[in-house]
Amino acid sequence: LQSKLPNVGTTIFSTMSQLALQHGAINLSQGFPDFDCPPELVDLVADAMRSGFNQYAPSPGLPLLRQKISQKTEQLYGHLANPDTEVTVTSGATEALFAAIAAVVQPGDEVMVLEPCYDSYVPAIELSGGVPVFVPLRFPDFSVDWQQVEDNLTEKTRLLIINSPHNPSGAVWGQTDLDELTRLTQKYPFLILSDEVYEHIVFDNQPHHSVLTVPALAERAFVVSSFGKTYHTTGWKVGYCIAPESLTTEFRKVHQYLTFSTATPLQHAIAAYLNNQEHYLTLPAFYQQKRDLFASLLQPSKFKLLPCAGTYFQLARYSQISDLTDVEFSQWLTKEAGVAVIPISVFYSQNVDHGVIRFCFAKKEETLRAAAERLCKL
Ligand code: PMP
Ligand code: GLN
Repeated sequence: LQSKLPNVGTTIFSTMSQLALQHGAINLSQGFPDFDCPPELVDLVADAMRSGFNQYAPSPGLPLLRQKISQKTEQLYGHLANPDTEVTVTSGATEALFAAIAAVVQPGDEVMVLEPCYDSYVPAIELSGGVPVFVPLRFPDFSVDWQQVEDNLTEKTRLLIINSPHNPSGAVWGQTDLDELTRLTQKYPFLILSDEVYEHIVFDNQPHHSVLTVPALAERAFVVSSFGKTYHTTGWKVGYCIAPESLTTEFRKVHQYLTFSTATPLQHAIAAYLNNQEHYLTLPAFYQQKRDLFASLLQPSKFKLLPCAGTYFQLARYSQISDLTDVEFSQWLTKEAGVAVIPISVFYSQNVDHGVIRFCFAKKEETLRAAAERLCKL
């Protein structure tokens, strides 16, 4: 059989979590909290199940949930999305990203990706026959080189995929990034796929700059988010996509046959829980405390931390400890030091190795302390 994805193996997240399990390492690799979601959310799911909400949801998502998403988005970003025609609930952001790409990318279309990038984008582009065009983010601050973006745009650029707050770097866009992007949309007709799953994890009193805050961007964008990050429910796989009606129509054609719909009781629970603004409004402070704790615990270590403006990921250089490649070092750290992490080179198309690894700090204080104790011994 000729593989349609010859360059794809097992994702680094499965690989490292598996290795952590095998070696009894503290798992700071795959991004997920090791603490539970709000108990009220669990009760709401149980209530929904007991009330008999156990059959297929409408394909675009429960009307009430779409309404709540639309209200929240209007409050936060001043963009009013029509819940009937512009909001679609999906089985995680991963499904939304795939459906958006499949909906608009034709064979031969160029899709611009800023790298390092989340690992689900490129396989989705390739399955649609698209051609990924890679533009590197600047190292070490992972800012966008807008001149290079402009230089690589062509008539064939169908889609530009962006991601702020950014996984794996933790970099966050400023208003000037939105301004630069807006300027380019005046010159070229590309669509935008904006992965905003960490929209509520931005630190130091900075705002999240959603593309939905700029009408000229919103009118050509798929904006994707995930309740997994916001509500500590990565295992529920509930996300959504906001896009203008013409794009949503095409998006829903794919969604309809990819999954048809998303787990009904989970949608009921999230719709009810969305009344609670406090949870997402206090999320930056909640994770900032963890970021700062982890950084202070690693202060005496030989790791050199890079700035982290958002997400629940902390990058670190390890050159004072080892000259292994980042993949080798991540494996060594997991097996020998008992802390699993993610190497950054896997998020690049070419093997770019900056000697940097990613820690996930969405963990209980005791987990972070136990990991730091091991890391400070190196
Ligand atoms: N995009 C980015 C940047 C992510 O970090 C993640 C979470 N791993 C996703 C998309 C996928 O989100 P979900 O788990 O909701 O599919
Ligand atoms: N987004 C998570 C991370 O970056 C992993 C998601 C997954 O395992 N597919 O670690």
